[in-house]
Amino acid sequence: MPLANGRPYLAIPGPSVIPDRVLRAMHRASPNIYTGELHDLTRSLIPDLKAVARTDHNAAIYIGNGHAAWEAALANVLSPGDTVLVLATGRFCIGWSEMAKGLKAQVQIIDYGQQSAVDLARVEQALQSDTDRRIKAVLMVHVDTSTSVRNDVPGVRGVIDAVGHPALLLVDCIASLACDRFEMDAWGADVMVAACQKGLMTPPGLGFVFFNDKAAGVREDARCVTTYWDWKPRVNPEGYWQYFDGTAPTHHLYGLREALDMIAEEGMDHIWTRHETLARTIWAAFDAWSVTGPMKLNIADPALRSWAVTSVEAGPGNGDALRAWCETVTGVTLGIGLGREPADGFYRIGHMGHVNAHMVLGVLASIDAGLKALKIPHGSGALEAAARLVAAG
Ligand SMILES: *Cc1c(COP(=O)(O)O)cnc(C)c1O
Repeated sequence: MPLANGRPYLAIPGPSVIPDRVLRAMHRASPNIYTGELHDLTRSLIPDLKAVARTDHNAAIYIGNGHAAWEAALANVLSPGDTVLVLATGRFCIGWSEMAKGLKAQVQIIDYGQQSAVDLARVEQALQSDTDRRIKAVLMVHVDTSTSVRNDVPGVRGVIDAVGHPALLLVDCIASLACDRFEMDAWGADVMVAACQKGLMTPPGLGFVFFNDKAAGVREDARCVTTYWDWKPRVNPEGYWQYFDGTAPTHHLYGLREALDMIAEEGMDHIWTRHETLARTIWAAFDAWSVTGPMKLNIADPALRSWAVTSVEAGPGNGDALRAWCETVTGVTLGIGLGREPADGFYRIGHMGHVNAHMVLGVLASIDAGLKALKIPHGSGALEAAARLVAAG
């Protein structure tokens, strides 16, 4: 019997749940874009975005999604014919590399498959064999949303430095920002891309490119950059922040302002700990379920699992069946399997941004009920294990 009426939970890995506070902040008349409050508000976003990214350097806002930020980051550092080294641990770095191809870059991919993190030895090998220093940038995804693996950003930085290679390190934090711990400056990322609709809890439509002074220097010789994507005018407060190179994304700015206030009130350290604890709660349930039957976490090593998203292997057909059951009966929408075969044998849980313990416990209880209703074999005690984790804090 459908029991889904009530507040739904869109537990897909982006767009994430939008807080009522953010929705309310956006529910207002259009402002004048030429003068007044909106200019001050836009200016106020920059230091707060940088605090979330843990950088003292530059932040550029684009009207666009993560794909737009991907292209913006590449266009500002590449010239046609440059090589990029792509560290692929799932669907997303491959997608980014396709953008690089579109800009006429040479793409060299190290593919780690669908269940592993970046292996630093292979990065070192690739950089060392690049004796004439053709590699302009190393592209990595902090958390790959298709596999839910989390990669070692400072580790890759360490390898680039140890080899003495001049390549820039470009990191996609679209899924991980404000969920998994990330420290742009301390970890040595030169460029970081993000978007507003995951950990930043705002409707899709804003992309961000953070870049340090080394990347700004590379920008001076980059020939892929075009007028709209150029990050230089976007960090000039007098020009861009006021006039946005056209109409400002007014309501997204109001929404993001509110979301950044919520993030500042909670504090980044607490936000990371909350995501970690909720992720561990999910893993505890899977440890119990996976004792018998087909349900299995995609990433075996807990140290390599994201705190923002969980990718699950469920057995052929079971992923789709469980998603459909949970949505119609319990009001929880789980994410589709991405880039996997058979696609209907996988699903993902988004637990990024505006997510708390009762939401995660509700998702787990919904899955537990779905396994029983669909007669998918599973171990017992998952909810007990999850409750114990929440109780332990
Ligand atoms: C969601 C996501 C993207 C794509 O972002 P869009 O806003 O959908 O373009 C890219 N990379 C990662 C890691 C993501 O999670």
